[in-house]
Amino acid sequence: MNPRARVLLLNPALGPLDYRVDPGQDVRPGSIVLAPLGPRQWTGVVWEADRMPSDAEVGDNRLRPLAGVYDLPPLGEPLRRLIEWTANYYLAPPAAVLRMALSSASALDGARTVTEYRATGRVPDRLTPQREQALERIGERQGLVRELAAIADVSDAVIRGLVKAGAIEAVEVSVDDPFLDPDPDHARPDLSADQAAVAGRLVEAVRAHAFQPFLLDGVTGSGKTEVYFEAVAEAIRQGRQTLVLLPEIALTEPFLKRFAARFGHAPIAWHSDLRQSQRRRAWRAIATGEAKVVVGARSALFLPYAKLGLIVVDEAHETSFKQEDGVMYHARDVAVMRGGFESCPVVLASATPAIETRQQVALGRYEELKLPGRYGVAQMPDINEVDLLRDPPPRGRWLAPTLVKAIEETLERKEQALLFLNRRGYAPLTLCRTCGHRFQCPNCTAWMVEHRLMARLACHHCGHVMPPPAFCPECKAEDSLVACGPGVERIADEASALFPDAKTAVVTSDTLWSPAKAAEFVGRMEAGDIDIVIGTQLITKGYHFPNLTLVGVVDADLGLAGGDLRAAERSFQQIAQVAGRAGRGAKPGHVYIQTREPSAPVIRALVSGDAESFYAAETESRRAANAPPFGRYAAIIISSEKLEEAVETARLIGRTAPQVDGMHVFGPAPAPLAMLRGRHRQRLLVHARRALDVQDVIRQWLGALEWPRGVRVAVDVDPYSFV
Ligand code: ADP
Ligand code: ZN
Repeated sequence: MNPRARVLLLNPALGPLDYRVDPGQDVRPGSIVLAPLGPRQWTGVVWEADRMPSDAEVGDNRLRPLAGVYDLPPLGEPLRRLIEWTANYYLAPPAAVLRMALSSASALDGARTVTEYRATGRVPDRLTPQREQALERIGERQGLVRELAAIADVSDAVIRGLVKAGAIEAVEVSVDDPFLDPDPDHARPDLSADQAAVAGRLVEAVRAHAFQPFLLDGVTGSGKTEVYFEAVAEAIRQGRQTLVLLPEIALTEPFLKRFAARFGHAPIAWHSDLRQSQRRRAWRAIATGEAKVVVGARSALFLPYAKLGLIVVDEAHETSFKQEDGVMYHARDVAVMRGGFESCPVVLASATPAIETRQQVALGRYEELKLPGRYGVAQMPDINEVDLLRDPPPRGRWLAPTLVKAIEETLERKEQALLFLNRRGYAPLTLCRTCGHRFQCPNCTAWMVEHRLMARLACHHCGHVMPPPAFCPECKAEDSLVACGPGVERIADEASALFPDAKTAVVTSDTLWSPAKAAEFVGRMEAGDIDIVIGTQLITKGYHFPNLTLVGVVDADLGLAGGDLRAAERSFQQIAQVAGRAGRGAKPGHVYIQTREPSAPVIRALVSGDAESFYAAETESRRAANAPPFGRYAAIIISSEKLEEAVETARLIGRTAPQVDGMHVFGPAPAPLAMLRGRHRQRLLVHARRALDVQDVIRQWLGALEWPRGVRVAVDVDPYSFV
């Protein structure tokens, strides 16, 4: 056995280091090990020495021994190659990528049991009102002390007192209980002929155990989910694992229910909201291959699947698949790479595919599968524009008479309406009528957004909050502050004023921040407990409410402002998605789009239903500008708490830009968000032809430079955010 192992530690500041392997230690590439470094021990993974050069060559006799090898399956070769590829492509330290694979520290060792508590049924000698309340609320439930305290709404001390008094007892619970396997034949749907043809092709690809990317392109409600479930069923039959990536955690709950209805049991969910014990249980089941189907946010992509047979990226056009901090990767693109390394099919499902994805189809790299119409009797909704210049709302209001009338008719029919505005809070800007003072975040180049539900002003970039001011801090005038423009809360107020008997609900990341909240919302919608939903982009995708027949887009022009290269495409996708929430059942759907620019190509495409010519025009303008997917960009973002340092470093980087054929460097310039979380930001934009290895150029360019410790230089390859 090789007495030496090269180990990538979970420390992004370090390259790989060599350790001595003692006889009896079973170490091979991928083994998860514990290694000493200074006074500490670090977790790491053994790598092939020739794939991971180390600049710290140490003689055999000076090597420190490995401290231990975890009793876990080694990370597979496909995952190791994926980690290398991701680090290389996105210019990230390999250890930072590895950390996403080993994202549950408690999964590696830690106890196999946790101590939970439950009532014994014995009544304590001293029964205070608090104790009585606690026992009543806890009932049959079981959990950690802190979880029971939360259920009972008492302090931890009350629960501990009850344990001492014998009314609550400890139980050891195994955290590695097996998961129930989904049954591929539990409730198979009758597919339409179109659906069956597409499902058949996917099933064939799953059986082939070979890499094949697909674009599953079908209008909202055409049965894309139903169809890829057939591929999932086949993967289960083949004894292989499936990963389904969803863009938002809020979407997982309805998805889990639907999955359980089809397969008899819920899949394994992976997202940031998991408790530690759930995280451990899921991670280990994924690593051993016991987990058959995993549904997760983008962070599920790097988990150590033992035997991956299928990857699905649902709502694949969603920009939330792009991670904007740490390793700035795009989960859709990395999912396709993982499919390549694992030799399995990858299905990108979308009603509004990204131009990047359509281009891959055009090049013959992805196979396109189409579902032309809605399933069953459901028809696509009719889409109407509301010209805000000709049909304006009354002063100080935001809903035009045409839309108000449509809401009224919807409510009369006892159907549900959805108003879409992609702006959280009550008003995006507060200003003083007397002196014109505007409330700005002290840490960011951004206005403070008024949130009436929470009674505060908040910065949407850094989270800074302040109580609503009683007077203007500038001119001290009282009662002089006015809210400018609408957010969803303001639209909800307007809807309530117009329809006092209607039950409204505001759906944003402020109100729907956990799977439980999302489930509660879905329950209320299904029970008819909500008449009008007012929501941000969170409401635009995935939901299926048959009684929802009206969608009003409050401000279709909002997404077009800002001038980023994907603004028109994104606007089109967002409005098409939200329109897709209308009329998904037997009742016909209606969509009203409020706009000041009814002749804009985005609006024309939506109203006429001619997506193809919109996409064709967008694609042509990208080609003409050599913008993605035809050329590529990389952003270099320099930030520091000291303005001078940021500017100096940005200038240094700009000055030393290499002359490379087919590459252009723009900037440096202050970023549009010139200050973020108290750091000053400068940007450079690298524009290059597709074939150029721009990462290599940037690596050498920045690698030769030095800058002050307080300066951060981040490279965003294929950026989606231009602020
Ligand atoms: P998409 O993912 O394309 O938006 P879904 O798969 O969510 O479409 O289908 C829309 C609705 O139609 C869902 O309620 C789904 O259960 C139903 N549906 C689609 N195809 C079938 C089918 N073959 N049999 C029964 N119900 C179906
Ligand atoms: Zn801020």
